[in-house]
Amino acid sequence: MSSAYTNAMSQLDKAAAVMKLDPNMHETLRYPNRVVHVNIPVTMDDGSVKVFQGFRSQFNNALGVYKGGIRYHWNVSEDEVKALSFWMMVKCAAVNIPMGGGKGGVIVNPKELSEGEIERLSRGYVQGVWRNIGSDKDVPAPDVYTTPQIMGWMRDEYEKLVGHEDPGVITGKSIENGGSEARSYSTAQGGVYCTIELAKKLGLQPEETTVAVQGFGNAGSHMAKILSGLGYKIVAVTDSKGGAMNREGLDVAAVEAHKAETRSVSGAPGTEAISNDEILHLDVDILVPAALENVITAENAAGVQAKAVVELANGPTTPEADEILKEKGIVVVPDVLANAGGVTVSYFEWDQNVKGEHWSEEDVLTKLEKIMVSAFTEIWETKEQHSIDMRTAAFVKAIERVSEAMK
Ligand code: NAD
Repeated sequence: MSSAYTNAMSQLDKAAAVMKLDPNMHETLRYPNRVVHVNIPVTMDDGSVKVFQGFRSQFNNALGVYKGGIRYHWNVSEDEVKALSFWMMVKCAAVNIPMGGGKGGVIVNPKELSEGEIERLSRGYVQGVWRNIGSDKDVPAPDVYTTPQIMGWMRDEYEKLVGHEDPGVITGKSIENGGSEARSYSTAQGGVYCTIELAKKLGLQPEETTVAVQGFGNAGSHMAKILSGLGYKIVAVTDSKGGAMNREGLDVAAVEAHKAETRSVSGAPGTEAISNDEILHLDVDILVPAALENVITAENAAGVQAKAVVELANGPTTPEADEILKEKGIVVVPDVLANAGGVTVSYFEWDQNVKGEHWSEEDVLTKLEKIMVSAFTEIWETKEQHSIDMRTAAFVKAIERVSEAMK
C-alpha cells in the first residue's frame, strides 16, 4: 500500500502539472523544512522508565508560523507526520489564513497510560521540542487522542521553560485557559458553510436535500445537528458500533440522546439499522464521511450514489476512488477545504492570544463564515476554469500562494 507521504506527493504532482509549477519550486515543496525527533523518557507509575519516540514536522512557513496538531497514536511515524504537515500547509493556504504547515506525533497507546503518565509524557514532549515552537514559530494543537487538558499541560511546560507567558504557543485550549469560543464545533461549522454553498451550486433546497453522515463524534455529530437545524434532512448516521436510518429524516437530538445513554447511535428509537458499508452507498444527495481515512476506495467508489461528498474526515477518499467519483460526476468537497473550519478557528485563537483579546462567539462565526465562503467560491471557480476536481483546485490555489510567498 502506498504511504501517506507518497499519496500527498502524488496530489502535489497532479496540481503542479495543472498549474505548470516551476520545477525547482516543485522539487523544494517535496520536502519539509525540518523534522525534529525526540526521545521522551517517562517515569511510569510503577517507578520504571519508558522511552517514547516523538516527532514534529515543520513543512513550510512561507505564509506564517507552522501550524498543526500533535497526535498520540501507536501507528504514528515520520512518514505520517510529514504527510500531515504537508496537508496542513495546503489546508491553511487553501483557505488563505496566514499560517504554515506543521504536525507532531508520539508513538504511544494513550489508552494504556494513566493520567499522570500522559501528563509527564506531554511535558516531556515539550521539553524536547520547546526551542522549535512558540507563538512566533510553530503553534501545535490537539489531534487524535490529544485533548484541551494536554494542551494546557504543554502550554504550562513551555512557559516554565521560556520563563514568560505565551498563551498563543498552542491552540485548542479550554476557554478558561485562553481557548476560543466556537472551537469545539468549528470543524463541523466550516463544513456546514461549505455545504450551504455547494447546495446553491447544485440547485438543492435545504428541505429537499438528504444527507448521510458516517461517524458521529465531534465532527460528525455537530455537522448532523447544525444541518438538521437548517432544515436539511439527515437520513442516516453511523458510528463504530453501527448506524441509525430514517428515510423521513432523523430526529438528530434524539439520536444524540440515545448515544449519550448507550454509547452508540445504533438502535435509536424510530430508526432502522444501517452498517458503515451500507451508508456509503445510500441514495442521498450529500454523503459526509466524518470518521476515518481511506473509507471510500477503489473497491466501493463505484457504488456511491450521492451527488456530492463533503469530506469532514481527513483523507477519507483514496486517490483511486477520487478518479472513480470524478468519472461518475460526483462532486467531492475535499478535506483541505471542508474541514478547514477547525484550523481557521485555531488561527483565531492564536490571533486573540497574541493580541490579548477574547472574541464573542458571534464574532468568531462571522469571521469563519467569511473565510469559508470565499475559499469555497474561489476553489469552485478554479475547478471550473481548469475543468479539474475540487481537490486539485484547492491544491492549485494553495500551492500558488505558498510558491508566491517563497519567491
Ligand atoms: P471523534 O473521535 O470525535 O469521532 C470519530 C467518530 O467516528 C466516532 O463516532 C466513532 O464511533 C466513529 N468511528 C470510528 N470508527 C469507525 C468506523 N470504522 N466506521 C464508522 N465510524 C467510525 O473524532 P472527530 O474529531 O470527530 O474526527 C473525525 C474525523 O474528522 C477525523 O478524520 C479527523 O481527522 C477529522 N477532523 C476533525 C477535526 C476536529 O476538529 N475534530 C478537525 C479536522 C479534521
